[in-house]
Amino acid sequence: MPVPKQTVDGRELNEVGSHSRHGLLEVADLLGAQSDEFTKRVFARLFVQFPDLRDAFPANMQPHRKELFMILDHAMRAIPASDDHGEVIELLGQLGRDYRKFGLVDWHYEALQGAMYGEIVRTCGPDNLDAADLALVEHTTHLVTGIMRGAAQSDPTPALRTARVIEVLRPQRDLTIVRLVAGRSMLFRAGQYVETQIPQLPGSWRPFSIAMPPNTAGHLEFHIRAVPGGWVSRTIAQETAPGDVWQFGQIHGQMRVDGNRPVTMVAGGTGLAPMKSLLMQMSISSDNPRVHLVAGAKSPGALYDSDALTALAATNPWLRVTQVTEEREDPWWMDRPAPSHRILTVRQGTVVDALSGLDLRGQQVLIAGPPDMIRAAVATAETVGAKPGRIVHDPLTA
Ligand SMILES: Cc1cc2nc3c(=O)[nH]c(=O)nc-3n(C[C@H](O)[C@H](O)[C@H](O)COP(=O)(O)OP(=O)(O)OC[C@H]3O[C@@H](n4cnc5c(N)ncnc54)[C@H](O)[C@@H]3O)c2cc1C
Repeated sequence: MPVPKQTVDGRELNEVGSHSRHGLLEVADLLGAQSDEFTKRVFARLFVQFPDLRDAFPANMQPHRKELFMILDHAMRAIPASDDHGEVIELLGQLGRDYRKFGLVDWHYEALQGAMYGEIVRTCGPDNLDAADLALVEHTTHLVTGIMRGAAQSDPTPALRTARVIEVLRPQRDLTIVRLVAGRSMLFRAGQYVETQIPQLPGSWRPFSIAMPPNTAGHLEFHIRAVPGGWVSRTIAQETAPGDVWQFGQIHGQMRVDGNRPVTMVAGGTGLAPMKSLLMQMSISSDNPRVHLVAGAKSPGALYDSDALTALAATNPWLRVTQVTEEREDPWWMDRPAPSHRILTVRQGTVVDALSGLDLRGQQVLIAGPPDMIRAAVATAETVGAKPGRIVHDPLTA
């Protein structure tokens, strides 16, 4: 679908690009060499003007600096490149909607534009930019912050939502299942993920997939794997308890089943969460394409939710489930033995090994799990016939 022309303050993206095809690319290259210093100074300028914002953002700004630079860099390269600016507009809009959780409003964007402009000029060196370059940088920073601000303003959903923890299950040493009830039912689609903040760690937002489809009672479920040294995931494993109030920001995600093509779902570890949500949603209807879920874990005892998957597969003839485990035996310290009875097929290997034995021509492929697994699964899916445009996964970082 053609994306409508984006204008900010009467200027079009193309208009900026037409000033100079090379200017912005050169600026992007110069900034890229000092990206971390550049974004450090942009945020420092913003926080000097608005100290409250410093408290709203997390202590560790590195991921936010990286994200802001990545999107700015993308914009500077995309603006002169072509007429199709849909992707960059979406990325900027998403960032603007996301920044609502830190309390950014109109006047912060004016300051952000000033900080970006000032620091681009300083980083590139004022002597390296002529009057046309300066105009180009000014237009670009207005456009970038204008799109972010516009998206934030036009989002009808509240910037923040809360839900109360009602149940915490710890079926394995490093896996926590958290169930909550939202004060007001949340609008989302099965398969999406949400920016989440737990009360123990204000300012530390992490994306987590919602492991069930939306319902009018506002019930939510999350599957959280504690990663080694993980700040938020370990705190959830150790401290989350009924009564905690979690905060949620922007809801994202394009994971969905489209049309009647057969679907292969690939879930590594808690990548099962969005797939389970989609399957639960689909199970409401009998008219579904064939679905093959391949769910993997390190060892049999690390597989989880097997009972729920068994029930889903038993009652939905369109669904087939294969579980795979890298190891045949559990490590000696694993306190939960693998279930003794198995109805689902269990194979040895990784989910990527399992994919390599399939024929994915003409299929939709949905993938969720740790970033390295997603990368490997995408590459393998393509080698066994999946078209790149039909492979969907969440961003590797968010
Ligand atoms: C779109 C999306 C959806 C997600 N959904 C879920 C979900 O449903 N359930 C879930 O448990 N997690 C999910 N995650 C991962 C989650 O957002 C956090 O990244 C993860 O919980 C680690 O956060 P932390 O604060 O504990 O670790 P941090 O303190 O941020 O990082 C500590 C260390 O752990 C490493 N690390 C970070 N993530 C992982 C990982 N996935 N595997 C191994 N090492 C890692 C870091 O590189 C770092 O070295 C999702 C991530 C994305 C991008």
